[in-house]
Amino acid sequence: MELSLLTVCYLIGSLTFIIGLKMLSHPDSARKGNLVAAVGMAIAIFGTIFLYEEEGKKLGNYSWIFGGLILGTIVGVLAAKKVKMTAMPEMVSLFNGMGGACAALISVNEFGHISEMLNFSVENIPGWHTTIMPPSMAGTLITIFLGLIIGAVSFAGSMIAWGKLNGKIKDFAFPGQQIFNLVLLAATLITAGYLVFNLHAGNTYLFYVIAAAALIYGVLFVLPIGGADMPVVISLLNSFTGVAAACGGFLYDNQVMLTGGILVGAAGTLLTILMCKAMNRSLTNVLIGSFGGSASGAGAAKGPQGNYKEISLSDAAVCMCYANKVIIVPGYGLAVAQAQHVCHELEKLLEEKGVNVSYAIHPVAGRMPGHMNVLLAEADVSYDKLQEMEQANDEFKTTDVVLILGANDVVNPAAKTDPASPIYGMPILEVEQAKTVIVNKRSMKPGYAGIENELFFQPKTSMLFGDAKAALQKLVAEIKSL
Ligand code: NDP
Repeated sequence: MELSLLTVCYLIGSLTFIIGLKMLSHPDSARKGNLVAAVGMAIAIFGTIFLYEEEGKKLGNYSWIFGGLILGTIVGVLAAKKVKMTAMPEMVSLFNGMGGACAALISVNEFGHISEMLNFSVENIPGWHTTIMPPSMAGTLITIFLGLIIGAVSFAGSMIAWGKLNGKIKDFAFPGQQIFNLVLLAATLITAGYLVFNLHAGNTYLFYVIAAAALIYGVLFVLPIGGADMPVVISLLNSFTGVAAACGGFLYDNQVMLTGGILVGAAGTLLTILMCKAMNRSLTNVLIGSFGGSASGAGAAKGPQGNYKEISLSDAAVCMCYANKVIIVPGYGLAVAQAQHVCHELEKLLEEKGVNVSYAIHPVAGRMPGHMNVLLAEADVSYDKLQEMEQANDEFKTTDVVLILGANDVVNPAAKTDPASPIYGMPILEVEQAKTVIVNKRSMKPGYAGIENELFFQPKTSMLFGDAKAALQKLVAEIKSL
């Protein structure tokens, strides 16, 4: 009776994960989707705690379980409340690392049982020290090793990614590192493969050697990758964690863990592919390309080229007020300045004056997928006002003013015109088709890719320097006074 109730809990958990994931794909339903999946997860967790039985015995250990749950909940809630939107990839990386560590610890725990069994046999059954594990255990051992290796790589890699994103860890590589990494990974896998068919009481220590090698591989795999490519790496490591968790689901024959792991694995893989596609880069290029790593790197800007012109706040205000159609292009700088609310105020003010205002959203504007959608949703910008890249590119021809707020790479024409540019081939917002382009940023410094932007030097472009929030506040005041 109780077991079937537990199965129902798992079924609800699995279904809510799928429904929640589907709802996450649209900004209007994303918040609810997250909640739906969280409720399903809670049902699966509490179902396991109170209903799971093995040989007629419940889990027990309630003080440990609830102690961990309460501690984890407090840390999670505080971290999520405190984190700034721009530091979101950092937090995702940290939490993802914890998931990888949990998956690896499941393998450590299960391997502990197997070791105990082998040691017991050695002590009690004559001749067992030479006997290897029965072949029927091969499937279990494969799952244990996969969970261990993938989980440990994900944990160590995510910790390095987290350190890089908050500036504590610098890019590091030594000559021949790619080869060394490949050899280390191959040796780890071969040793695990050997143990699957030759494990006995005398070589169980190799399990811990494999764990250490996987941790070292995780560190060395992420260390040389350009700090700016971390969001893609985190998405990849996220998919690893999903696969490692699915291994745990196999081990425990736990359907909800399996479904959750597979969903995370698949979603992480798809997200990685989509991010690479939107930047027009292959995953290999991300992993070994060191793109936008440091400002002194190969793609670094050489300093301002040519002349650019500035526009005063009052001229910018007049220009926009008398336009028929204005498109706002938000970018990373808008998130840094937290200027989304005042941006929405500007939009409403212009609309009141009869100007048609919309937003052009590039798929990789900002530092995480959907960054601009989330940012603008926070300020209650209507979803109907957002145009996807293809749609916006059709609209620019008939646009009077494009106002770029803290965006750089996503409007850089070098992506179309300069085959030597690291962003060559990346689809961009073709803002230069509009009659007038106003760019707000603080200086002539490059963006994420560390490269110059020729758009800033074109005759129809004017620079409006300053922090996006301060500039927009002044612009709003200026428009109100017109
Ligand atoms: P960029 O990083 O290209 O440019 C942001 C610009 O904002 C900078 O040039 C900066 O100039 C300006 N800025 C910073 N702070 C402020 C501020 N307070 N007020 C006004 N301006 C400010 O951003 P984009 O959004 O154009 O492009 C995103 C980049 O990130 C792309 O190259 C993309 O490939 C990459 N990327 C995106 C991911 C995603 O999932 N979204 C993941 C991984 C990478 P200044 O210092 O002069 O103010």
